[in-house]
Amino acid sequence: MKNSNIRKLLMDRSIEGKVGATMPSIDVPLQTLPNKKFLRENLAMPEVSENEIVRYFSSISQMNFSIDHNFYPLGSCTMKYNPKLNDDIAGFPGFNEIHPLQNIDTIQGALEIMFDLQNILAEITGMSGTSLAPMAGAEAELAGMLMIRAYHRNREDFKRKKVIIPDSAHGTNPASAVMAGFEVISIPTDTNGNTDLEALKNVVDASTAGLMLTQPSTLGLFDTNILEVVKIINSNGGLIYGDGANLNAILGKVKPGEIGFDLVHSNLHKTFTQPHGGGGPGAGAIMVSDKLIDFLPDPIVTKDKIDKFDLSKPQKSIGKMGAFHGNFGALVRAYSYIRTLGKEGINNISEDAVINANYLRIKLKDTLDLPYDRICSHEVVFSAKTIKEKYGVNALDIAKRLIDYDIHPPTMYFPLIVEEALLVEPTETESKETLDEFIETVKTICEEAKTNPNLLHNAPHNTPNTRLNEALAARNPKLNWRNTIEEAN
Ligand SMILES: *Cc1c(COP(=O)(O)O)cnc(C)c1O
Repeated sequence: MKNSNIRKLLMDRSIEGKVGATMPSIDVPLQTLPNKKFLRENLAMPEVSENEIVRYFSSISQMNFSIDHNFYPLGSCTMKYNPKLNDDIAGFPGFNEIHPLQNIDTIQGALEIMFDLQNILAEITGMSGTSLAPMAGAEAELAGMLMIRAYHRNREDFKRKKVIIPDSAHGTNPASAVMAGFEVISIPTDTNGNTDLEALKNVVDASTAGLMLTQPSTLGLFDTNILEVVKIINSNGGLIYGDGANLNAILGKVKPGEIGFDLVHSNLHKTFTQPHGGGGPGAGAIMVSDKLIDFLPDPIVTKDKIDKFDLSKPQKSIGKMGAFHGNFGALVRAYSYIRTLGKEGINNISEDAVINANYLRIKLKDTLDLPYDRICSHEVVFSAKTIKEKYGVNALDIAKRLIDYDIHPPTMYFPLIVEEALLVEPTETESKETLDEFIETVKTICEEAKTNPNLLHNAPHNTPNTRLNEALAARNPKLNWRNTIEEAN
Protein backbone atom coordinates (compact mmCIF):
# COMPACT_ATOMS: atom_id res chain seq x y z
CA MET A 1 0.00 0.00 0.00
CA LYS A 2 3.04 2.27 0.34
CA ASN A 3 3.55 2.28 -3.45
CA SER A 4 1.67 5.28 -4.77
CA ASN A 5 1.08 3.63 -8.14
CA ILE A 6 -1.24 1.21 -6.40
CA ARG A 7 -3.54 4.10 -5.46
CA LYS A 8 -3.82 5.32 -9.03
CA LEU A 9 -7.27 4.85 -10.47
CA LEU A 10 -7.64 2.93 -13.68
CA MET A 11 -8.35 6.05 -15.75
CA ASP A 12 -5.18 7.67 -14.44
CA ARG A 13 -3.15 4.69 -15.63
CA SER A 14 -4.49 5.01 -19.16
CA ILE A 15 -2.00 5.41 -22.02
CA GLU A 16 -3.40 5.91 -25.49
CA GLY A 17 -3.20 2.82 -27.63
CA LYS A 18 -2.75 0.26 -24.87
CA VAL A 19 -5.09 -2.70 -25.16
CA GLY A 20 -5.97 -5.22 -22.45
CA ALA A 21 -8.19 -7.55 -24.41
CA THR A 22 -7.94 -9.44 -27.66
CA MET A 23 -11.15 -9.53 -29.63
CA PRO A 24 -11.81 -12.60 -31.79
CA SER A 25 -11.95 -11.86 -35.49
CA ILE A 26 -15.43 -11.25 -36.82
CA ASP A 27 -17.13 -14.37 -38.19
CA VAL A 28 -20.54 -12.91 -39.06
CA PRO A 29 -21.49 -10.37 -41.74
CA LEU A 30 -20.68 -6.82 -40.65
CA GLN A 31 -23.85 -4.93 -39.70
CA THR A 32 -24.40 -1.21 -39.64
CA LEU A 33 -26.04 0.10 -36.51
CA PRO A 34 -29.67 1.13 -37.02
CA ASN A 35 -29.44 4.40 -35.17
CA LYS A 36 -26.31 6.53 -34.82
CA LYS A 37 -28.07 8.65 -32.22
CA PHE A 38 -27.18 6.15 -29.52
CA LEU A 39 -23.46 6.16 -30.30
CA ARG A 40 -21.00 8.42 -28.56
CA GLU A 41 -17.97 9.65 -30.46
CA ASN A 42 -15.91 10.06 -27.32
CA LEU A 43 -16.21 7.79 -24.37
CA ALA A 44 -13.66 8.06 -21.58
CA MET A 45 -12.37 4.51 -21.27
CA PRO A 46 -9.07 3.49 -19.71
CA GLU A 47 -6.56 2.14 -22.16
CA VAL A 48 -4.48 -0.34 -20.19
CA SER A 49 -2.84 -3.70 -20.69
CA GLU A 50 -4.20 -6.96 -19.32
CA ASN A 51 -1.69 -7.29 -16.49
CA GLU A 52 -2.35 -3.71 -15.42
CA ILE A 53 -6.06 -4.33 -15.18
CA VAL A 54 -5.57 -7.60 -13.27
CA ARG A 55 -3.20 -5.90 -10.81
CA TYR A 56 -5.55 -2.98 -10.40
CA PHE A 57 -8.53 -5.08 -9.43
CA SER A 58 -6.45 -7.42 -7.26
CA SER A 59 -5.02 -4.47 -5.37
CA ILE A 60 -8.36 -2.78 -4.72
CA SER A 61 -9.82 -6.09 -3.56
CA GLN A 62 -7.14 -6.11 -0.86
CA MET A 63 -8.10 -2.66 0.41
CA ASN A 64 -11.27 -4.09 1.83
CA PHE A 65 -11.62 -5.94 5.09
CA SER A 66 -13.48 -9.23 5.01
CA ILE A 67 -14.35 -12.12 7.27
CA ASP A 68 -12.07 -14.28 5.12
CA HIS A 69 -9.19 -11.96 6.06
CA ASN A 70 -9.32 -11.76 9.84
CA PHE A 71 -11.45 -11.45 13.00
CA TYR A 72 -14.64 -9.44 12.66
CA PRO A 73 -16.13 -8.79 16.13
CA LEU A 74 -19.27 -7.20 14.67
CA GLY A 75 -20.62 -10.70 14.94
CA SER A 76 -23.57 -12.49 13.46
CA CYS A 77 -25.50 -9.24 13.20
CA THR A 78 -23.22 -8.08 10.44
CA MET A 79 -20.88 -10.82 9.35
CA LYS A 80 -19.99 -14.09 10.93
CA TYR A 81 -18.07 -16.86 9.25
CA ASN A 82 -20.35 -18.66 6.81
CA PRO A 83 -19.17 -22.15 5.85
CA LYS A 84 -18.43 -22.30 2.13
CA LEU A 85 -20.34 -25.57 1.81
CA ASN A 86 -23.64 -23.73 2.13
CA ASP A 87 -22.79 -21.43 -0.75
CA ASP A 88 -21.84 -24.42 -2.89
CA ILE A 89 -25.17 -26.10 -2.17
CA ALA A 90 -27.19 -22.95 -2.87
CA GLY A 91 -25.38 -22.81 -6.20
CA PHE A 92 -26.63 -26.23 -7.38
CA PRO A 93 -28.42 -25.74 -10.72
CA GLY A 94 -31.61 -27.30 -9.28
CA PHE A 95 -31.77 -24.43 -6.78
CA ASN A 96 -30.05 -21.68 -8.67
CA GLU A 97 -31.67 -21.97 -12.07
CA ILE A 98 -35.34 -22.41 -11.24
CA HIS A 99 -37.89 -19.69 -11.83
CA PRO A 100 -40.62 -18.64 -9.40
CA LEU A 101 -43.23 -18.84 -12.15
CA GLN A 102 -42.30 -22.41 -13.08
CA ASN A 103 -44.99 -25.09 -12.90
CA ILE A 104 -45.31 -26.35 -9.33
CA ASP A 105 -44.77 -29.98 -10.45
CA THR A 106 -41.28 -29.13 -11.61
CA ILE A 107 -40.07 -27.57 -8.33
CA GLN A 108 -41.17 -30.18 -5.82
CA GLY A 109 -37.64 -30.55 -4.43
CA ALA A 110 -37.31 -26.82 -3.77
CA LEU A 111 -40.69 -26.76 -2.05
CA GLU A 112 -39.75 -29.78 0.05
CA ILE A 113 -36.74 -27.88 1.38
CA MET A 114 -38.95 -24.94 2.29
CA PHE A 115 -41.50 -27.26 3.89
CA ASP A 116 -38.80 -28.96 5.99
CA LEU A 117 -37.27 -25.62 6.94
CA GLN A 118 -40.68 -24.32 8.08
CA ASN A 119 -41.02 -27.35 10.36
CA ILE A 120 -37.45 -27.22 11.66
CA LEU A 121 -37.75 -23.53 12.56
CA ALA A 122 -41.09 -24.11 14.28
CA GLU A 123 -39.47 -26.91 16.26
CA ILE A 124 -36.38 -24.85 17.18
CA THR A 125 -38.54 -21.98 18.43
CA GLY A 126 -41.35 -24.05 19.95
CA MET A 127 -43.96 -22.56 17.64
CA SER A 128 -46.78 -24.02 15.52
CA GLY A 129 -46.30 -22.44 12.12
CA THR A 130 -43.73 -20.63 9.99
CA SER A 131 -43.73 -18.30 7.02
CA LEU A 132 -40.50 -17.91 5.09
CA ALA A 133 -41.86 -15.03 3.01
CA PRO A 134 -40.22 -11.99 4.68
CA MET A 135 -36.92 -11.00 3.05
CA ALA A 136 -35.29 -9.53 6.17
CA GLY A 137 -35.62 -9.29 9.93
CA ALA A 138 -37.35 -5.93 9.77
CA GLU A 139 -39.85 -7.29 7.25
CA ALA A 140 -40.57 -10.24 9.51
CA GLU A 141 -41.24 -7.78 12.33
CA LEU A 142 -43.65 -5.88 10.11
CA ALA A 143 -45.38 -9.15 9.20
CA GLY A 144 -45.62 -9.98 12.91
CA MET A 145 -47.07 -6.59 13.80
CA LEU A 146 -49.62 -6.87 10.98
CA MET A 147 -50.60 -10.30 12.31
CA ILE A 148 -51.08 -8.91 15.81
CA ARG A 149 -53.29 -6.19 14.35
CA ALA A 150 -55.28 -8.69 12.28
CA TYR A 151 -55.67 -10.97 15.32
CA HIS A 152 -57.23 -8.28 17.51
CA ARG A 153 -59.42 -6.99 14.68
CA ASN A 154 -60.63 -10.49 13.96
CA ARG A 155 -61.83 -10.64 17.58
CA GLU A 156 -63.47 -7.25 17.01
CA ASP A 157 -61.23 -5.76 19.63
CA PHE A 158 -60.47 -2.43 17.97
CA LYS A 159 -59.10 -0.53 20.93
CA ARG A 160 -55.71 -2.27 21.11
CA LYS A 161 -53.57 0.38 19.47
CA LYS A 162 -50.39 0.35 21.56
CA VAL A 163 -47.26 -1.74 21.43
CA ILE A 164 -44.87 -1.71 24.39
CA ILE A 165 -41.16 -1.86 23.60
CA PRO A 166 -38.30 -1.82 26.16
CA ASP A 167 -35.54 0.69 25.37
CA SER A 168 -33.01 -2.15 24.97
CA ALA A 169 -34.84 -3.30 21.82
CA HIS A 170 -33.37 -3.18 18.35
CA GLY A 171 -34.20 0.06 16.51
CA THR A 172 -36.24 -1.72 13.88
CA ASN A 173 -38.77 -2.83 16.54
CA PRO A 174 -40.44 0.56 17.11
CA ALA A 175 -40.20 1.35 13.39
CA SER A 176 -42.06 -1.85 12.48
CA ALA A 177 -44.76 -1.25 15.08
CA VAL A 178 -45.33 2.27 13.76
CA MET A 179 -45.45 1.06 10.17
CA ALA A 180 -48.22 -1.34 11.15
CA GLY A 181 -50.19 1.58 12.58
CA PHE A 182 -49.44 1.15 16.29
CA GLU A 183 -48.45 3.71 18.84
CA VAL A 184 -45.19 2.80 20.58
CA ILE A 185 -44.81 2.98 24.34
CA SER A 186 -41.16 2.82 25.38
CA ILE A 187 -40.28 1.46 28.81
CA PRO A 188 -36.88 1.56 30.53
CA THR A 189 -34.44 -1.19 31.37
CA ASP A 190 -33.69 -1.81 35.04
CA THR A 191 -30.18 -1.57 36.51
CA ASN A 192 -29.53 -5.25 35.74
CA GLY A 193 -30.38 -4.74 32.07
CA ASN A 194 -33.78 -6.51 32.33
CA THR A 195 -37.23 -5.17 31.47
CA ASP A 196 -38.32 -2.84 34.27
CA LEU A 197 -41.38 -4.67 35.65
CA GLU A 198 -42.83 -1.72 37.56
CA ALA A 199 -42.66 0.47 34.47
CA LEU A 200 -44.31 -2.31 32.46
CA LYS A 201 -47.19 -2.71 34.94
CA ASN A 202 -47.81 1.03 34.81
CA VAL A 203 -48.39 1.14 31.06
CA VAL A 204 -50.25 -2.12 30.36
CA ASP A 205 -53.99 -1.78 29.88
CA ALA A 206 -56.85 -2.72 27.56
CA SER A 207 -55.29 -0.65 24.77
CA THR A 208 -52.15 -2.82 24.74
CA ALA A 209 -51.95 -4.87 21.54
CA GLY A 210 -48.70 -6.50 22.55
CA LEU A 211 -45.09 -6.23 23.57
CA MET A 212 -41.97 -6.56 21.43
CA LEU A 213 -38.93 -7.89 23.17
CA THR A 214 -35.48 -8.44 21.74
CA GLN A 215 -34.33 -11.61 23.46
CA PRO A 216 -31.43 -11.67 24.15
CA SER A 217 -31.55 -7.87 24.26
CA THR A 218 -29.18 -5.55 22.43
CA LEU A 219 -27.22 -5.43 25.69
CA GLY A 220 -26.38 -9.07 24.97
CA LEU A 221 -28.38 -10.13 28.02
CA PHE A 222 -31.05 -12.75 28.47
CA ASP A 223 -33.94 -10.97 30.17
CA THR A 224 -34.36 -12.98 33.38
CA ASN A 225 -37.68 -11.23 34.09
CA ILE A 226 -39.15 -12.83 30.99
CA LEU A 227 -41.71 -15.14 32.65
CA GLU A 228 -43.05 -12.23 34.67
CA VAL A 229 -43.21 -10.06 31.55
CA VAL A 230 -45.18 -12.73 29.68
CA LYS A 231 -47.61 -13.06 32.58
CA ILE A 232 -48.29 -9.33 32.77
CA ILE A 233 -48.96 -9.00 29.04
CA ASN A 234 -50.98 -12.20 28.66
CA SER A 235 -53.25 -11.47 31.59
CA ASN A 236 -54.12 -8.19 29.86
CA GLY A 237 -54.96 -9.85 26.55
CA GLY A 238 -51.86 -8.69 24.69
CA LEU A 239 -49.55 -10.78 22.51
CA ILE A 240 -45.80 -11.22 22.91
CA TYR A 241 -43.46 -10.71 20.00
CA GLY A 242 -39.91 -12.00 20.31
CA ASP A 243 -37.19 -10.49 18.18
CA GLY A 244 -34.95 -13.51 17.67
CA ALA A 245 -32.80 -11.97 14.95
CA ASN A 246 -29.80 -13.53 16.66
CA LEU A 247 -31.01 -16.83 18.03
CA ASN A 248 -27.47 -18.21 18.16
CA ALA A 249 -27.33 -17.48 21.89
CA ILE A 250 -30.27 -19.74 22.73
CA LEU A 251 -30.47 -22.32 19.93
CA GLY A 252 -31.29 -25.73 21.31
CA LYS A 253 -31.51 -24.33 24.86
CA VAL A 254 -34.58 -22.14 25.06
CA LYS A 255 -37.72 -22.33 22.95
CA PRO A 256 -39.48 -18.96 22.91
CA GLY A 257 -42.82 -20.74 22.33
CA GLU A 258 -42.44 -22.64 25.59
CA ILE A 259 -41.86 -19.42 27.53
CA GLY A 260 -45.11 -17.99 26.19
CA PHE A 261 -44.14 -15.99 23.12
CA ASP A 262 -46.87 -15.80 20.46
CA LEU A 263 -44.56 -14.78 17.62
CA VAL A 264 -40.84 -14.85 17.07
CA HIS A 265 -38.77 -14.08 14.04
CA SER A 266 -35.29 -15.21 13.23
CA ASN A 267 -32.86 -13.65 10.81
CA LEU A 268 -31.73 -16.71 8.93
CA HIS A 269 -28.81 -14.65 7.61
CA LYS A 270 -27.61 -13.95 11.16
CA THR A 271 -28.54 -16.98 13.21
CA PHE A 272 -27.71 -19.50 10.54
CA THR A 273 -25.69 -18.64 7.46
CA GLN A 274 -25.65 -16.21 4.57
CA PRO A 275 -22.98 -13.71 3.64
CA HIS A 276 -24.98 -10.52 4.17
CA GLY A 277 -22.70 -7.58 4.91
CA GLY A 278 -23.62 -4.27 3.35
CA GLY A 279 -27.35 -4.69 3.48
CA GLY A 280 -28.32 -8.01 2.04
CA PRO A 281 -29.50 -10.45 0.97
CA GLY A 282 -31.30 -11.93 3.93
CA ALA A 283 -34.32 -13.89 5.02
CA GLY A 284 -36.49 -13.29 8.06
CA ALA A 285 -38.61 -16.28 8.95
CA ILE A 286 -41.60 -15.60 11.19
CA MET A 287 -42.85 -18.32 13.54
CA VAL A 288 -46.18 -18.16 15.38
CA SER A 289 -48.26 -20.00 17.96
CA ASP A 290 -51.63 -21.66 17.26
CA LYS A 291 -53.46 -18.38 17.84
CA LEU A 292 -51.88 -16.77 14.82
CA ILE A 293 -51.35 -19.59 12.38
CA ASP A 294 -54.26 -18.56 10.13
CA PHE A 295 -52.84 -15.06 9.78
CA LEU A 296 -49.40 -16.01 8.41
CA PRO A 297 -48.18 -14.20 5.29
CA ASP A 298 -48.89 -15.74 1.93
CA PRO A 299 -47.55 -18.18 0.78
CA ILE A 300 -46.66 -21.07 3.03
CA VAL A 301 -45.63 -24.47 1.71
CA THR A 302 -48.08 -27.29 2.40
CA LYS A 303 -48.04 -31.02 1.72
CA ASP A 304 -51.12 -33.00 0.68
CA LYS A 305 -52.05 -36.66 1.26
CA ILE A 306 -50.08 -37.92 -1.71
CA ASP A 307 -46.96 -36.04 -0.56
CA LYS A 308 -47.28 -33.33 -3.17
CA PHE A 309 -46.04 -29.90 -2.10
CA ASP A 310 -47.94 -26.75 -2.91
CA LEU A 311 -48.03 -23.06 -2.03
CA SER A 312 -51.05 -22.05 0.03
CA LYS A 313 -52.55 -18.91 1.42
CA PRO A 314 -53.60 -19.21 5.08
CA GLN A 315 -57.30 -18.53 5.69
CA LYS A 316 -56.99 -15.04 7.22
CA SER A 317 -53.55 -14.25 5.81
CA ILE A 318 -52.23 -10.71 6.10
CA GLY A 319 -51.22 -11.11 2.44
CA LYS A 320 -47.92 -11.03 0.63
CA MET A 321 -44.73 -9.51 2.00
CA GLY A 322 -43.11 -9.28 -1.42
CA ALA A 323 -43.02 -10.97 -4.77
CA PHE A 324 -43.19 -14.77 -4.81
CA HIS A 325 -41.99 -16.90 -1.91
CA GLY A 326 -39.15 -15.24 -0.05
CA ASN A 327 -35.44 -15.20 -0.64
CA PHE A 328 -34.95 -18.78 -1.78
CA GLY A 329 -31.13 -18.80 -1.94
CA ALA A 330 -30.91 -17.67 1.68
CA LEU A 331 -33.41 -20.36 2.68
CA VAL A 332 -31.32 -23.09 1.04
CA ARG A 333 -28.20 -21.89 2.88
CA ALA A 334 -29.98 -21.91 6.24
CA TYR A 335 -31.37 -25.37 5.54
CA SER A 336 -27.95 -26.66 4.57
CA TYR A 337 -26.38 -25.13 7.72
CA ILE A 338 -28.97 -26.71 9.99
CA ARG A 339 -28.83 -30.12 8.32
CA THR A 340 -25.04 -30.31 8.29
CA LEU A 341 -24.91 -29.46 12.00
CA GLY A 342 -27.76 -31.67 13.14
CA LYS A 343 -29.40 -31.46 16.54
CA GLU A 344 -26.19 -31.74 18.52
CA GLY A 345 -24.35 -29.25 16.34
CA ILE A 346 -27.16 -26.72 16.79
CA ASN A 347 -26.76 -27.10 20.54
CA ASN A 348 -23.04 -26.47 20.22
CA ILE A 349 -23.67 -23.20 18.38
CA SER A 350 -25.26 -21.56 21.38
CA GLU A 351 -22.74 -23.02 23.81
CA ASP A 352 -19.79 -21.81 21.75
CA ALA A 353 -21.33 -18.39 21.03
CA VAL A 354 -22.04 -17.78 24.71
CA ILE A 355 -18.71 -19.15 26.00
CA ASN A 356 -16.78 -17.02 23.52
CA ALA A 357 -18.57 -13.81 24.53
CA ASN A 358 -18.16 -14.55 28.23
CA TYR A 359 -14.46 -15.37 27.77
CA LEU A 360 -13.95 -11.87 26.37
CA ARG A 361 -16.08 -10.39 29.15
CA ILE A 362 -13.91 -11.91 31.89
CA LYS A 363 -10.59 -11.26 30.18
CA LEU A 364 -11.28 -7.62 29.36
CA LYS A 365 -13.31 -6.46 32.33
CA ASP A 366 -10.27 -4.90 34.00
CA THR A 367 -9.25 -3.13 30.79
CA LEU A 368 -12.57 -1.58 29.74
CA ASP A 369 -15.68 -0.71 31.76
CA LEU A 370 -18.31 -3.42 31.96
CA PRO A 371 -21.65 -1.66 32.53
CA TYR A 372 -23.56 -4.91 33.14
CA ASP A 373 -21.32 -7.23 35.12
CA ARG A 374 -23.25 -10.47 34.71
CA ILE A 375 -23.18 -13.52 32.47
CA CYS A 376 -23.93 -12.39 28.95
CA SER A 377 -25.36 -14.16 25.92
CA HIS A 378 -23.76 -14.10 22.48
CA GLU A 379 -22.36 -10.59 22.81
CA VAL A 380 -20.85 -8.41 25.51
CA VAL A 381 -21.12 -4.67 25.88
CA PHE A 382 -18.07 -2.77 27.15
CA SER A 383 -17.69 0.96 27.63
CA ALA A 384 -14.72 3.28 27.14
CA LYS A 385 -16.17 5.81 29.60
CA THR A 386 -13.31 5.69 32.14
CA ILE A 387 -10.61 5.75 29.48
CA LYS A 388 -12.30 8.76 27.93
CA GLU A 389 -12.47 10.58 31.25
CA LYS A 390 -8.83 9.78 32.12
CA TYR A 391 -7.05 10.09 28.79
CA GLY A 392 -9.49 11.75 26.38
CA VAL A 393 -9.58 8.67 24.15
CA ASN A 394 -13.05 7.52 23.11
CA ALA A 395 -14.68 4.37 21.77
CA LEU A 396 -14.26 5.58 18.17
CA ASP A 397 -10.48 6.04 18.66
CA ILE A 398 -10.12 2.54 20.07
CA ALA A 399 -12.18 1.07 17.25
CA LYS A 400 -10.10 2.88 14.63
CA ARG A 401 -6.83 1.78 16.22
CA LEU A 402 -7.95 -1.86 16.04
CA ILE A 403 -7.83 -1.53 12.24
CA ASP A 404 -4.08 -0.89 12.44
CA TYR A 405 -3.77 -4.26 14.14
CA ASP A 406 -5.73 -5.91 11.31
CA ILE A 407 -8.90 -6.44 13.34
CA HIS A 408 -12.26 -5.06 12.28
CA PRO A 409 -13.86 -2.65 14.79
CA PRO A 410 -16.77 -3.94 16.85
CA THR A 411 -20.12 -2.14 16.97
CA MET A 412 -19.64 1.34 18.48
CA TYR A 413 -22.04 3.69 20.26
CA PHE A 414 -24.77 1.03 20.31
CA PRO A 415 -26.78 0.14 22.33
CA LEU A 416 -27.63 3.79 22.77
CA ILE A 417 -28.29 3.40 26.49
CA VAL A 418 -24.59 2.72 27.17
CA GLU A 419 -22.14 5.63 27.01
CA GLU A 420 -19.04 5.07 24.81
CA ALA A 421 -20.32 1.58 24.03
CA LEU A 422 -18.20 -1.08 22.37
CA LEU A 423 -20.42 -4.07 21.63
CA VAL A 424 -18.38 -7.17 20.89
CA GLU A 425 -19.78 -10.34 19.39
CA PRO A 426 -17.16 -12.98 18.64
CA THR A 427 -19.70 -15.60 17.38
CA GLU A 428 -19.51 -19.36 17.69
CA THR A 429 -17.00 -19.87 14.91
CA GLU A 430 -13.95 -18.13 16.39
CA SER A 431 -11.15 -20.06 18.08
CA LYS A 432 -9.59 -19.39 21.49
CA GLU A 433 -6.37 -18.37 19.74
CA THR A 434 -8.19 -15.67 17.76
CA LEU A 435 -9.92 -14.42 20.89
CA ASP A 436 -6.62 -14.31 22.80
CA GLU A 437 -5.08 -12.24 20.05
CA PHE A 438 -8.01 -9.83 20.21
CA ILE A 439 -7.72 -9.57 23.99
CA GLU A 440 -3.98 -8.79 23.81
CA THR A 441 -4.60 -6.20 21.09
CA VAL A 442 -7.30 -4.40 23.08
CA LYS A 443 -4.98 -4.35 26.10
CA THR A 444 -2.14 -2.92 24.02
CA ILE A 445 -4.42 -0.22 22.61
CA CYS A 446 -5.68 0.76 26.06
CA GLU A 447 -2.03 1.03 27.16
CA GLU A 448 -1.35 3.29 24.16
CA ALA A 449 -4.30 5.42 25.25
CA LYS A 450 -2.33 6.27 28.39
CA THR A 451 1.08 6.79 26.84
CA ASN A 452 0.32 8.19 23.39
CA PRO A 453 -3.31 9.24 22.99
CA ASN A 454 -2.62 11.05 19.70
CA LEU A 455 -1.72 7.76 18.11
CA LEU A 456 -5.33 6.74 18.72
CA HIS A 457 -6.93 10.04 17.77
CA ASN A 458 -5.34 9.82 14.31
CA ALA A 459 -5.76 6.09 13.73
CA PRO A 460 -5.88 4.16 11.50
CA HIS A 461 -2.39 4.72 10.14
CA ASN A 462 -1.75 1.59 8.05
CA THR A 463 -4.75 1.62 5.74
CA PRO A 464 -5.09 3.00 2.18
CA ASN A 465 -7.32 5.73 3.63
CA THR A 466 -6.67 7.06 7.11
CA ARG A 467 -9.32 8.69 9.35
CA LEU A 468 -12.20 9.83 7.16
CA ASN A 469 -14.73 12.51 7.76
CA GLU A 470 -17.47 9.94 8.30
CA ALA A 471 -20.39 12.27 7.68
CA LEU A 472 -19.01 13.44 4.33
CA ALA A 473 -17.83 9.97 3.33
CA ALA A 474 -21.37 8.70 3.76
CA ARG A 475 -23.30 11.71 2.43
CA ASN A 476 -21.04 12.95 -0.33
CA PRO A 477 -19.13 9.98 -1.69
CA LYS A 478 -17.22 10.34 -4.94
CA LEU A 479 -18.04 7.14 -6.71
CA ASN A 480 -16.80 7.69 -10.25
CA TRP A 481 -13.58 8.79 -11.86
CA ARG A 482 -13.25 12.48 -12.53
CA ASN A 483 -10.73 14.15 -14.72
CA THR A 484 -9.10 16.25 -12.04
CA ILE A 485 -6.66 17.83 -14.52
CA GLU A 486 -9.45 19.07 -16.79
CA GLU A 487 -11.52 20.17 -13.79
CA ALA A 488 -8.59 22.25 -12.57
CA ASN A 489 -8.18 24.04 -15.93
C1 LIG B 1 -30.45 -7.11 12.55
C2 LIG B 1 -31.54 -7.06 13.51
C3 LIG B 1 -32.83 -6.72 13.10
C4 LIG B 1 -33.16 -6.31 11.67
O1 LIG B 1 -32.93 -7.31 10.74
P1 LIG B 1 -32.66 -6.97 9.20
O2 LIG B 1 -32.54 -8.28 8.50
O3 LIG B 1 -31.41 -6.16 9.14
O4 LIG B 1 -33.85 -6.19 8.70
C5 LIG B 1 -33.82 -6.74 14.05
N1 LIG B 1 -33.56 -7.04 15.34
C6 LIG B 1 -32.33 -7.38 15.76
C7 LIG B 1 -32.12 -7.71 17.22
C8 LIG B 1 -31.27 -7.39 14.88
O5 LIG B 1 -30.05 -7.72 15.30
